[in-house]
Amino acid sequence: MSPSEPAGRHLGLDLGATNLKWTVVEHADGAWQALDRGQVLTRVAGGPDAIVAQLGEIGREAMVRWPGVSTAGVGIPGLYDPVSGSTRFLVNLPGAWDGHPVAGPVSAALGVPVALINDARAFGLAELRLGAGRGADSMVGLTLGTGVGGVIAIDGRVHQGHDGTAGEIGHQTIDPDGPSCNCGNHGCLEAFARADRIAEACGTATAEEAVERARAGDRAALDGLERVGRYLGIGIANMITVISPDKVVIGGGIAAAGDLLLGPARDEIARRVRTTSVSAVELVTAELGTWAGAIGAAIHGAEQGPIGSIPAPAAGSVPAPAAGSVPAPSAGR
Ligand SMILES: [Zn+2]
Repeated sequence: MSPSEPAGRHLGLDLGATNLKWTVVEHADGAWQALDRGQVLTRVAGGPDAIVAQLGEIGREAMVRWPGVSTAGVGIPGLYDPVSGSTRFLVNLPGAWDGHPVAGPVSAALGVPVALINDARAFGLAELRLGAGRGADSMVGLTLGTGVGGVIAIDGRVHQGHDGTAGEIGHQTIDPDGPSCNCGNHGCLEAFARADRIAEACGTATAEEAVERARAGDRAALDGLERVGRYLGIGIANMITVISPDKVVIGGGIAAAGDLLLGPARDEIARRVRTTSVSAVELVTAELGTWAGAIGAAIHGAEQGPIGSIPAPAAGSVPAPAAGSVPAPSAGR
């Protein structure tokens, strides 16, 4: 979709392990605007079928309230197959998600084409279009929370790779002999910078407590955040060296640590980046908060349009996502 096309409304759904968020965005005169939003608790206990049904219900309610929606996008907390519209592996949602159709049934419920996008890529797309990444040609984004999500934008577009997995900045190896990571590798950036490892590094029960204690001057917490910030800085320095982005956008709950974490990261970036001018790279915190995922999903659906999305079936027909096109998930991922 080019910015010159007429105004349109687009639905975004963000599937989280705790909350299912929705938003309706409008695209007019090349600018994006969120019109409305809301959230409900995700029906986790019902498993994948109940959750997919809930995506359809919440989406329908939003579309009744905001008529004229022509596309939808769903933010997925993990890996998916963009061709079949099925999930492959979700980190924090229990149930048999491997090969589970999502885009097909949601599209059937809503009557509009539906495209899936990884939630970190959705965050990045939203920040790029109407948040802290506005105006950037190339951007690197990280979400710091339960895990470390990543996104890379080049030439004003989020780079998806062939299967939507591009930009997994959190799973670059920072230390070859480092601690285990949920992806199956060792020494990933996420293995140092995810919330529970931050807490561990600071000797606290949670990452939030680590930040609180550090603010109060607790030495162990300050040292822990500095160590984690250093790893974070190495990871970001690698990305700056490879991408040479205009902006680096840091989001997620842990970003609230601010300079306690980003200060050491900045120092490390200044030490490690030798090939490009670090002063030309803006390191900023995200602007859209917890709604970035839903907003980015809506924009992704809009930009994919009918091509690249799973189309809504004709009335009375059964949705049939492409069978046999689901690649086998790689081990441990
Ligand atoms: Zn990993």
